[in-house]
Amino acid sequence: MLILMELNSTSEDVKRVKTEVEPYGCKAHKIEGTQNIALGITGNTTNLKEDNLRNLKGVTDVIRVSRKYKLVSRMMKPDDTKIEIGNDAIGGNEITIIAGPCSVESRDQIFQIAETLANLGIKFMRAGAYKPRSSPYAFQGMKEEGLLLLDEVKREFGLKIVTELLNPAHIDSVKEVADIIQIGARNMQNFSLLEEVGRTGMPVLLKRGLSATIEDLLLSAEYIVSQNNYNVILCERGIRTFESFTRNTLDLNAVPVLKSETHLPVFVDPSHGIGIWDKVPAMAMASIAAGADGLMVEVHPFPQAALSDGYQSLTPKNFHAMLEKLKTLAEIMERRIN
Ligand code: PEP
Ligand code: MN
Repeated sequence: MLILMELNSTSEDVKRVKTEVEPYGCKAHKIEGTQNIALGITGNTTNLKEDNLRNLKGVTDVIRVSRKYKLVSRMMKPDDTKIEIGNDAIGGNEITIIAGPCSVESRDQIFQIAETLANLGIKFMRAGAYKPRSSPYAFQGMKEEGLLLLDEVKREFGLKIVTELLNPAHIDSVKEVADIIQIGARNMQNFSLLEEVGRTGMPVLLKRGLSATIEDLLLSAEYIVSQNNYNVILCERGIRTFESFTRNTLDLNAVPVLKSETHLPVFVDPSHGIGIWDKVPAMAMASIAAGADGLMVEVHPFPQAALSDGYQSLTPKNFHAMLEKLKTLAEIMERRIN
């Protein structure tokens, strides 16, 4: 349920609404908008007395929200969510590029790519220290040692770090280094992990599960936001279909659908989406044309030697060429790459 209140409602007015809903086991989440104050009511709202609510001072409307997700919905919060990270903001009119290797592999590798990206003006670097691999025999990441290397490059080049959290046991060390915590496709429905990252209050990049629907993705985001953490970025990264030529099928339908359903920023990862390096730029361009707020792209100094996802990784030279094209496209879209 959504309760709209006049913009100049006092904290007592808001408190009166909270006092009305709480005895029914419901919770009111205050969202300040530009037109009004919205209270998103979560919990089982069936027994709430709409007329009582309507008669409270400051209340202008009471709306039943038919969607299963509430706090992430555009209906609850019409304005785009902007996530402030240091001097940078994700969401809004700027397009953010997160680039970097699939995994941290060595000191040389991560320093080399960090320098290249910083010189290209990239502000957010991705790299996994803990890697979710389909095979238990595949490279599992450099783990804590990888996090320490990320911390070093962060200091050296001023890059903001995006890295994956696989297991709640690593949350403290990941939090130390990450500016954005990545929750991978395989963990999209690990609900206790979602609640845990929600409680940190930190920015979270939530990737769509391999066979998750758009609604599943939004409901997973709701787990994080319901911990009062609105700093969530959604990331389409391709889904499993019958098509076997490409690694996944990048569902670009999800971009305009998500943009209208939710106020959260929407990113696309074309690297995992198609899985073939020379086809990545086409899908990156298509993602921006579809209205994405940012991209996550895999770039490696020597893709042939990568310990994970080399085949879908761009060389620095190819990444640079793609970036120039994206800048031109962003202008056509009346946006800017930051
Ligand atoms: C990754 O970003 O390297 C990754 C493992 O992605 P996903 O969770 O989307 O498979
Ligand atoms: Mn990868």
